[in-house]
Amino acid sequence: MTTEFRRFSWVLAFPLLALAACTSSASSADGWATNVDRKVDPCTDFDAFANGPWRAANPIPAQASRWGRRAAARETNRRQVQELLEGLSHRNDWPHGSIERLLSDHYASCMDEAGIERLGLTPLAPLLADIDAIRSPADLQRNIQRLHAVAVRVGFGIVGVFDNHDPERFIANVVPADLGMSSRDEYVGTEPQLVQARERYRTRVARVLALAGSPDAAARESSVAILGLETRLAGVSLTATASADPAATDHPMTFAQLEQLAPGVDWQGYFAEAGLPRADLNVEQPNFLKQLDAELRKTPLSVWKAYLRWRLLDSASPFLSKSFVEGTAETTPRALRCIESAESLFGDAVGRKYVERHFPPAAKAKVQEIVRALLAVLKEDVAGLEWMRPETRKKALGKLEGFDAEVGYPERWKDYAGVEVRRDAFWANVAAGRRFNVGDNRRRIGKPTEREAWQLPASSPDAYIDLQLNQMVLPAGFLRPPAFALDQSDAENYGGIGASVAHDLTHGIDAGGSEIDLLGRPRRWWTDTDRQEFQARGRCVSEQFEGYFIEPGLHHRGTLVLSEAIGDLAGVRVAYLAFRRSMEGHPAPVRSGLTPEQRFFVAYGQLRGDAVRLEAQRQMLMTDPHPVPKYRVIGPLANLPEFQRAFSCPAGAEMVRPPEKRCAVW
Ligand SMILES: [Zn+2]
Repeated sequence: MTTEFRRFSWVLAFPLLALAACTSSASSADGWATNVDRKVDPCTDFDAFANGPWRAANPIPAQASRWGRRAAARETNRRQVQELLEGLSHRNDWPHGSIERLLSDHYASCMDEAGIERLGLTPLAPLLADIDAIRSPADLQRNIQRLHAVAVRVGFGIVGVFDNHDPERFIANVVPADLGMSSRDEYVGTEPQLVQARERYRTRVARVLALAGSPDAAARESSVAILGLETRLAGVSLTATASADPAATDHPMTFAQLEQLAPGVDWQGYFAEAGLPRADLNVEQPNFLKQLDAELRKTPLSVWKAYLRWRLLDSASPFLSKSFVEGTAETTPRALRCIESAESLFGDAVGRKYVERHFPPAAKAKVQEIVRALLAVLKEDVAGLEWMRPETRKKALGKLEGFDAEVGYPERWKDYAGVEVRRDAFWANVAAGRRFNVGDNRRRIGKPTEREAWQLPASSPDAYIDLQLNQMVLPAGFLRPPAFALDQSDAENYGGIGASVAHDLTHGIDAGGSEIDLLGRPRRWWTDTDRQEFQARGRCVSEQFEGYFIEPGLHHRGTLVLSEAIGDLAGVRVAYLAFRRSMEGHPAPVRSGLTPEQRFFVAYGQLRGDAVRLEAQRQMLMTDPHPVPKYRVIGPLANLPEFQRAFSCPAGAEMVRPPEKRCAVW
């Protein structure tokens, strides 16, 4: 095919090209999906067509390996939250007990670096004095409880989680202590760099203990003993890889069995103090608890006291004076740390103010409408699937029927009344927020799982899907361009958030989702025949991606990206069908020379089309289950006759796979 011919088809596809030529950057009324590269034929390289001008104007920042509209949207979101908190903090006369007062005082206390310097270690004095006063094993146990209440996980931890065997139940999960270094290997590995990391860690322990008042020699001695205790605990811990296997951390037991497992821990006292029911629970790592039990018997109280002291100081150090701050907290801008602190402690207060300003109820209703439309299309699609056995189809439909999309903000906000914060006491505010959240989590143990208790605040720029709860959470902070905007047309919104949500919906019923049943239990509900049929159709997608190169000789591994590539293909197709249906009775206008159908695909291309440095692409090819962004744009669209029609692409164009090679799974 000649270049001339492609140019010709391009002009045919855009009768308003001449008119549009003067608007290379889209006005807001036009929507984001009109900012395209008119010099590129969409039938040849749709990724360049959809993303060229934006990439030219927004190069990858020096410190980043990839960049795109979603990364930029994240920055905008962080700026919005910062403006909001700064605005609130400029007034100190908000009514007592209001969330405005809470956020204002907390943010002001966090930004008050001079005040934090002046206070030094005094905010921690009461907890440190309690630790100093430990004289008996019973004192030690009480202090462990006290530190757990401010989220310092010494010895072990107890967190409320939903029960893997029955996700509708919320149970206590007994987990290992947080260790000072991030992985087991750093404690026990023999490679030179691990040995060095260990020595650096021990030096930091000694330095911080000395800063907190221990004489140098004693601090050094304590650091050796602390490293010894943590190393023995780390030695019996699961490696990161091992603990990723759900079966490895699945140990349901009764309260009596827990007492038998580690009789050295005063479980009765702990559960009474924390207000926890002595009900069925899970222990993630029984071997860890056995070792802890042994350490409680044989490790001297003086070592335990030093360990508690260190863990408290380490956990509080980002919120203390500069001499204590180390690591990432040192290099992250103060304001960013303060908004992160506000969101992690008082997420529903930040979320509520964010939503007031940036996410009206109409936006929530619109996204809910889009999700309903996607579900309707996907259900019809599944109902008509020939390769899936009828009884399996019924189960897939059941999962889609029970799907819970949480949009924008939760139905009920947490009530922070009673949380005391002050304008001049940053650590005390952090401790108050931690107490509230630990208490909130404990309060739910032994009750039915609360679906509206999100893992992210409404202001978050991220979203997540929980396959066990059959739930997707789309916070307001995530629902912004290029994914969604209330004042954009359906073309943009279905091509953006629509395709993204539909992709995730298929994960609940695909090969991965087939391992978890309707009730969220780890039970397979596909037959072997279903699996074989799915694999047979997937082979087409796998072969397609084997043919996608990032440089000569280097192409995708089809099997690695298969599941995500199938999700992309299904996602954009389902979203397109739902979009077409949304237009029935409301035909949408051509804008800047792009038909609504074209803008749908452009929005999809812009959502997925990050620029990635070649070095990072090479890495992705080895380990990332997602194809590189360019092929996440090109790959699915090249399979769709709907795309070919929208852009009037001729047969044989690069963006058009021949009919016999077109892949379709869902
Ligand atoms: Zn996915």
